[in-house]
Amino acid sequence: MKPFDILDPLMPTPERPILLRDLKNYLTFLKDYGYSDIPLQSGSILEPGSDKSNLSRLSTETTRQHTMAKPRTSAKPNLTLEEVREELGDCTRCNLHSTRKTIVFGSGNPHADLVFVGEGPGADEDEQGFPFVGRAGKKLTEIIEKGMKLNRERDTYICNIVKCRPPENRDPKADEVAACNPFLIKQLQAIRPKAIVALGKPSASTLLGRTVPIMKERGTWHEYAGIPLMLTLHPAYLLRAYTLENRRNVMDDMNKVLAKLRE
Ligand code: URA
Repeated sequence: MKPFDILDPLMPTPERPILLRDLKNYLTFLKDYGYSDIPLQSGSILEPGSDKSNLSRLSTETTRQHTMAKPRTSAKPNLTLEEVREELGDCTRCNLHSTRKTIVFGSGNPHADLVFVGEGPGADEDEQGFPFVGRAGKKLTEIIEKGMKLNRERDTYICNIVKCRPPENRDPKADEVAACNPFLIKQLQAIRPKAIVALGKPSASTLLGRTVPIMKERGTWHEYAGIPLMLTLHPAYLLRAYTLENRRNVMDDMNKVLAKLRE
């Protein structure tokens, strides 16, 4: 299967159970985030016992309209990061625009082998316009540079699931994540790294399209659009729960990532 076509309505029958599992996970994820219904385009009716094309259409439409766990194949060639940034513009697609100071798009090497995806900008990031520049950012830089012996700017690209600061540093809401998700997908399509690291539960849950129990699933490999995806703890959590066990766990996760980059 090509990386970005898992939700293709013409998918052969053996792949349907995988699609159904992903769809179920995705619906559970939406429910956990407070959605009670799925907006379908007019004309799309899902009746009991209706045919499989309706099911395919439902999954395709919900995926398009909300946080996309698995992006669809695009007929268009991938945009460059600069073009994605241009398309984002002076974004007003969700309410976060009214309280943000700066859009925090991402930083690092547009051709990096490794991408870290965090949750959303905090106060420092909102001020400076770059991701992970506050306390959690210093911890992330330390993990990358001291722990992994990589150079943050040269060897990685860092971005977030939402590009604007949620007020009071609350978790981003489902509609905010959904509004930003097409841009995250396009960023990852533009970079096509060898590995992605999801930092913390909201990032892991967005990329996998289901609610991820991060303490249970950290350290395990998953896939995002054909790209290996490692889940680990968010550096802000690490700072709050600075135990030897948590620090060791994060380093174990990063060593797995380094091994993957060497493959
Ligand atoms: N936490 C995040 O998830 N992202 C940032 O950019 C900063 C802190």
